[in-house]
Amino acid sequence: MLNRIDLRGSATDPRDLLPRAQLDVSAAVDKIRPVVEAVREHGFAAIQEATERFDGVRLERLRVPAEAIAAAVETLDPEVRAALTEAIARARKVHTDQRRTDVTTQVVPGGTVTERWVPVSRVGLYVPGGLAMYPSTVVMNVVPAQVAGVEGLVVTSPPQVDNGGLPDARVLAACALLGVDEVYAVGGAQAIAMLAYGVEGECAPVDMITGPGNIWVTAAKRLLRGVVGIDAEAGPTEIAILADDTADPVHVAADLISQAEHDPLAASVLVTPSVALAEAVEVELARQVAATKHTGRVTEALTGPQSGVVLVDDLEQGLRVVDAYAAEHLEIQTVDARAWALRVRNAGAVFVGAWSPVSLGDYLAGSNHVLPTGGCARHSSGLSVQSFLRGIHLIEYAEDALRDVAGHVVTLATVEDLPAHGQAVEARFK
Ligand code: NAD
Repeated sequence: MLNRIDLRGSATDPRDLLPRAQLDVSAAVDKIRPVVEAVREHGFAAIQEATERFDGVRLERLRVPAEAIAAAVETLDPEVRAALTEAIARARKVHTDQRRTDVTTQVVPGGTVTERWVPVSRVGLYVPGGLAMYPSTVVMNVVPAQVAGVEGLVVTSPPQVDNGGLPDARVLAACALLGVDEVYAVGGAQAIAMLAYGVEGECAPVDMITGPGNIWVTAAKRLLRGVVGIDAEAGPTEIAILADDTADPVHVAADLISQAEHDPLAASVLVTPSVALAEAVEVELARQVAATKHTGRVTEALTGPQSGVVLVDDLEQGLRVVDAYAAEHLEIQTVDARAWALRVRNAGAVFVGAWSPVSLGDYLAGSNHVLPTGGCARHSSGLSVQSFLRGIHLIEYAEDALRDVAGHVVTLATVEDLPAHGQAVEARFK
C-alpha cells in the first residue's frame, strides 16, 4: 500500500526524497480576493452574501447569542463534557508552566535593559467547521491565549445548516467551558476578513488571527498577513514514525491510519531499518484500512506520493531522514526511544515510545496540537503561550552610563554615515 523508498547503502541527502502534498495557495488567493475586498467595503452585507453562497445559510446577525452558547453546554453529552474538561485542565497545566517572566539585565552600572512580555490585546481564533467539527481546536487555541493574558478573545466558526445557522454545538460548548462569550457564526475567507477589518456595529477588528482551516481560510490568512498578525499557514497534516523491530506493527499501522484519516493529502511516513517490520506493517495496514470508517480518504492518503515507507541501514540514518523531513508529528518507537527522541532536531512534536501516540497529543496529552507542517518544523514551533506574547525592551540608562558609551555610539554612527545619530548623543553633553 505504501510507496517504498530504499535508502540502504545510499549517501544521498534525504531532504527532498519524500515529496510533500502540494497545495496551490496562490491560486486560491486570487479566488478569494474579491470576497475579502467585498467584506472590507461592504461589511455585513458582503459576509451575508458569501455565507449564503458557500455555506448555504442566510445570516441575520454575525454574533452568536449568549443563550445559544449557554444552551450548547447544557445539552452537551456528559461524556464529551468530561473529556473536554479534562483536556482543558491538562492543556492549562502545561501551558501555565510555559509563561515567560520579564527579565532585567544590568548591562553596566546605571544601564539596564528589561524584556517585558506583553500579551496581544485582541485575538481572533478560527475554528474549522466544513468537513468535520473540532471542539479540540477551540481548546488548543484558547488555552495558550488565556494563559498569555489576552483580554479580547473572539472565536469564529462556520454556521451549520443542521444547527439553525449557528456553529456546531460542540464547538459552542467548548467556548462556554473556556469562558469565551464572543463567538461569530462565520467561516471561510469572509471570517478572516471580518476579523482583520472588523464589521461596523458587529465585530471590532483583531490584532492577530490563529487557528487552522481549509485552503480558502489559508489563502485569506496569506492575503491579510500584515493587516493582522497570523500564526501560520497550516498545510496537510503529517506523521513520521521512526521504528525498529521492537515496535508493534499493529500500533504503527494504527498510527499511520489515524493521521491519514484527516485528509486525502495527509502524509504518513514510516522510517525503519527493519524490513520485517515494514512488511508486518503492510499486512496490518491492509487489515486495518478495510475496517476503518473513512476507508476512502485513508487509502488515498496512504497511497499518495506524500506517504511511504523509507528503508534505512540503521537508526542513525533513520534519524537523519526524519530530521531532514521535519514532520509535524514524529513518533519514536525504538529501543531507548527517549534517547533517540532527545537527538531529534526537527519536528513539530515528538511522541516518545509505545504509549504516547499522536492521538493522545491531538486531545489529552496537555501539549498543543497546532504544529508546523510542510517542513516548517525546521524553523518554527507549534502554537504556545509565546505565540500570543510580544517581547518589548525597556532601555533605561542614567546620565553617566550614557556618557561612558557615547564615544562608541558616535563612532558607529559615523561609520554608517548617520551623523545625526551621533549628534543626538553629543547634544546631551555640550
Ligand atoms: P473550514 O472551516 O476551514 O472551511 C469551511 C469554509 O470554507 C466554509 O465556511 C465556506 O465558507 C468556505 N468555502 C467552502 N467552499 C468554498 C469555495 N469554493 N470558495 C470559497 N470558500 C469556500 O473547514 P474544512 O473545510 O473542514 O477544513 C478544515 C481544515 O483544517 C482541514 O484541512 C483540517 O485537516 C484542518 N485542521 C487542522 C488542524 C490542525 O491543528 N492542524 C485542526 C483541525 C483542522
